[in-house]
Amino acid sequence: MNAISGVSTPPAPAGSDAASNAFPPERVWPGLAHAARAIGVPLEGEAAARFAQYQELLLTHSVRFNLTAIREPHEIERRLFLDAVAMVPALDAAVAAIPLPAGQAHSLVDIGTGAGFPGLVLKIVRPALDVTLIDATAKKVSFLRTVIAALKLDTVGVVHGRAEDLGHDPAFRARFDVATARAVANLPVLLEYVVPLLKIGGTALLPKGLEIDEELRTGNRAAAHLGAAIVSDARLPVDGTRLIIASKCAPTPGAYPRRVGIPSRSPLGERS
Ligand code: SAH
Repeated sequence: MNAISGVSTPPAPAGSDAASNAFPPERVWPGLAHAARAIGVPLEGEAAARFAQYQELLLTHSVRFNLTAIREPHEIERRLFLDAVAMVPALDAAVAAIPLPAGQAHSLVDIGTGAGFPGLVLKIVRPALDVTLIDATAKKVSFLRTVIAALKLDTVGVVHGRAEDLGHDPAFRARFDVATARAVANLPVLLEYVVPLLKIGGTALLPKGLEIDEELRTGNRAAAHLGAAIVSDARLPVDGTRLIIASKCAPTPGAYPRRVGIPSRSPLGERS
């Protein structure tokens, strides 16, 4: 593997080439707390301790629950935790744009969260958020319940279900300020899953690889069908990730999301 434990390297200076890819695999891994600080998201309160517990639970449950192919401690920190931590500045900006009455928490939904990525990571870094984690696989939902109890997190719920169904359930439709989804489907499909769940004025944060020009074309068309628009596709300061940001500007027509399986079989925006 690429990391030598216990040896730390200073972060790349901001503005350098390396800053757009702050922790490439060949660099010695400085540890999650250091890496998070270097990209402008210092871990506060109980976050560092919670990440350590979460990593431990992933390492012990990954094989049995088929959670993730990433099973090396530093790779969990780098490719699962830090990738999601890198979304926090965009999350903070999205939340700041939606004023709420005092004492009310902003809400976030993560569709196809798997073992909690990125939704549970975002909850650990921003514990005041009211977070709903959704996944279609029972084993993953059961693992998430174990993690949430062990980490003593509150205002985070786990739902076993599919985006296509929950998108028509009044308890979920148009209820959330922010929606995320990572490694679940291509962009038009993701948009059909997440946009119906957003309030008007809400934001979708969708991490993607770098080579997504075609997805962006179909994604733009899909967004228009759903009452949303893609407003940004900036690179994140971590390995090869772009963050697609879409904003919901109008109600989603009642026909969306389409029935289970249709969004992925026949993605919106491919023909018109
Ligand atoms: N987001 C996680 C998991 C990605 S794997 C990560 O980045 O590691 C994709 C997950 O999406 C699987 O756990 C699968 O059960 C879930 N999924 C796929 N389609 C879904 C749908 N339509 N509704 C809800 N969950 C879905």
